[in-house]
Amino acid sequence: MLPRTLLFQSLRSIRKSSPRLGFCTCSSHIPQPQAGFVTMASSPQQHPLTTKVVHAMRTLYPEALADRSWDNVGLLLDNIKPGPGVQETSPLVLLTNDLTIAVAEEAIQKGARVIISYHPFLFRGIKSVSLNDPHQRILLQLVQNNIAVYSPHTALDAADGGINDWLADMLNSLDENSKRSVVQPIAKPEGYISAAVGYGRRVDFSRAFGIHDVVGAFAKALDMKYMSVATPKAAEKPIKSVAVCAGSGSGVLKDCDADLLFTGEMSHHDALKATMLGQTVVTVFHSNSERKYLRERLAPALRNELGEDIGIVVSKEDCDPFEIWRTDE
Ligand SMILES: [Zn+2]
Repeated sequence: MLPRTLLFQSLRSIRKSSPRLGFCTCSSHIPQPQAGFVTMASSPQQHPLTTKVVHAMRTLYPEALADRSWDNVGLLLDNIKPGPGVQETSPLVLLTNDLTIAVAEEAIQKGARVIISYHPFLFRGIKSVSLNDPHQRILLQLVQNNIAVYSPHTALDAADGGINDWLADMLNSLDENSKRSVVQPIAKPEGYISAAVGYGRRVDFSRAFGIHDVVGAFAKALDMKYMSVATPKAAEKPIKSVAVCAGSGSGVLKDCDADLLFTGEMSHHDALKATMLGQTVVTVFHSNSERKYLRERLAPALRNELGEDIGIVVSKEDCDPFEIWRTDE
């Protein structure tokens, strides 16, 4: 989940909704067919691997689950089936949390044909595409190398078995008898079989735990040494309930009265408010609450859908932009 202030807009939607982009419709500017130019025979077709990957992702994480009021999910960049006689390397899909220049170059170097990037990489409307902008440079490099990009984002957040269920599962080791619910339920798409879907998950324990027990369970599951913890100033309160939201969880968790809120990042003021309400807040930097899902859950689920003939690798270059530095040595 990204902050809702970021308005995503795809190239497709810009073209559809903005007739004032400068396209002139007077007859002298409408391209005229050239003599002998055959359009139908040369129509490009989608690369077959992209077709398979998009179908698998839509089966696992229906796009109808995504919050399209602000998010930009789905196939963000298509690619083209090679012509007859063109030899391709083995089909390969690269998974990443964020699509950076380093990840794009890794995909090119490894011969990946499709990138699944949890976060969308197209943020705003684009009127030109230049090498000076990092995201536009990625677009150009991927087009040049015929690599497609699919982003599930909030569809994956909301899905049954998605990223927030994965975070909630980290507490199973503490209490097998806990009860789980959805923090912000949404309507289920037609035909989607699941108990409940939506954003964030709440876990109610069958007994109380100490803060260190809960933080320790997340730390072990995420393999993290350091976490940011904001606690109420009163005496340590037993934890009977926890709410989780991957990424930037303030919007989803703001009205949730769970004893402990776990998310990737939360603003100073939202964390202060929570602690004044007697809640503990635990944060780990945005993408550290998301990235490990790719290896632990997404890659096996895709292998199951796509079969063993299609290679699936998790990016080695993808990482959170922030790290903790020791300054006393
Ligand atoms: Zn996120």
